Amino acid sequence: MDFLRPQTWADALAAKADDVDAVPIQGGTDVMVEMNFDLHRPAALLDLNPVAELATWEEAPDGTLRVGAGVPYVRIISELGDRLPGVSQASRTVGSPQIRNRGTVGGNLGGASPAGDLHAPLLAGGAVIEAESAARGTRMIPATEFYLGVKRNCLEPDELIRAFHLPPAAGPQYFSKIGTRNAMVIAVCSFSIALFPDERRVGTGIGSAAPTPRRAYAAEEFLAAELDWDADLDDAVTQRFGDLVREAASPIDDVRGTANYRRHALSVMAKRTLGWAWRDYTSEKKAA
Ligand SMILES: Cc1cc2nc3c(=O)[nH]c(=O)nc-3n(C[C@H](O)[C@H](O)[C@H](O)COP(=O)(O)OP(=O)(O)OC[C@H]3O[C@@H](n4cnc5c(N)ncnc54)[C@H](O)[C@@H]3O)c2cc1C
Repeated sequence: MDFLRPQTWADALAAKADDVDAVPIQGGTDVMVEMNFDLHRPAALLDLNPVAELATWEEAPDGTLRVGAGVPYVRIISELGDRLPGVSQASRTVGSPQIRNRGTVGGNLGGASPAGDLHAPLLAGGAVIEAESAARGTRMIPATEFYLGVKRNCLEPDELIRAFHLPPAAGPQYFSKIGTRNAMVIAVCSFSIALFPDERRVGTGIGSAAPTPRRAYAAEEFLAAELDWDADLDDAVTQRFGDLVREAASPIDDVRGTANYRRHALSVMAKRTLGWAWRDYTSEKKAA
C-alpha cells in the first residue's frame, strides 16, 4: 500500500488528482476501523494530517465561521461551543474522548453515513461545504445538496473537503440523539433544531432515519407560518411540528431499532428540542 503524505493543501490536491483512488485519511476513526475489519484495503492512503490549513478555523467579517476539515471534535467543543452550539452538542456525543480527539467533521462528511452525528446540526444551521480540486478549484456545496445516498456524498473523485462554513447561531440550537446506551453509541436516530428569530424561521436536521440526513421541510414551513414569536409556545403547534418531523423521515428496521420506533422517537425529540429552544429564546428576550 502506498502512503502519501503531502505537506501542503496544494500538494494534497495534486496528489488526489494524480491518484483519484487514494483514500483520504484524517483522524482515521472510520478509515482504520474499515481496514482493521478488512472491509476496505485501499491501494493508497492520502494522509491529510500534515496539512496545517485543514487544522485551523477562521471567522469571516460577517461572522460566518470557516472550519477546516481537520479540526477535531475536542477543539470544536472547546473553541466554538459558544458560536456553534448545535454542532458542538453533536460533537460532544461522538464516541469517546479518544474518538473526539482524533475524529473530525471532515471525516464525518467524507464518510456520509446517514448515522453520522454532525449532519443534522449542519443541515439545521444552514452549513455550506467547501470542496476543492486541483483542476477546477473551489466548489461551495450547500449541506442540503451534499448527501446523495447511504454513505455517498457528491464529491468528485479528485475533490477533497477543505472546510465547512456555518454562520454563528442566530438563536438557540439543540441536538438530540437516541442510542441504545448513553455513550460510545451510533445513533438510532437524531434530530437538530436551530431558531432564527430575526428571520422568524426554524431550521431542522434529521439523522439516521432515511438513506441520507435530511431536513424536515414541511415542519419548517409549518413553524414559519404558525409560530407566534411574541407569545408562549402553543401545545397544538408543538404537537403538529412533531408529527411533521415524523412524517419527513423514511427509516428502516435494522439492528439498532425499528422504523416505527425511529419515527416515534423523532417526533418526541422534535417536540422536546423545540420546547428547550423556545424556553431559551423567551428567557433571552426577557433578559434583553
Ligand atoms: C469507537 C468509535 C465510536 C464512534 N462514535 C461515533 C459517534 O458517536 N458518532 C459519529 O457520528 N461517528 C462515530 N464514529 C465514527 C467516526 O469517529 C466519525 O465519523 C468521525 O467524524 C470520522 O472522522 P475522521 O477524521 O476520523 O475520519 P477518517 O476516518 O479519517 O475518514 C472518514 C471518511 O472521510 C474521508 N475523508 C476524511 N477527510 C477527508 C477530506 N478532507 N476530504 C474528503 N474526504 C475525507 C475518508 O476518506 C473516509 O472516507 C465512531 C467511530 C469509532 C471507531
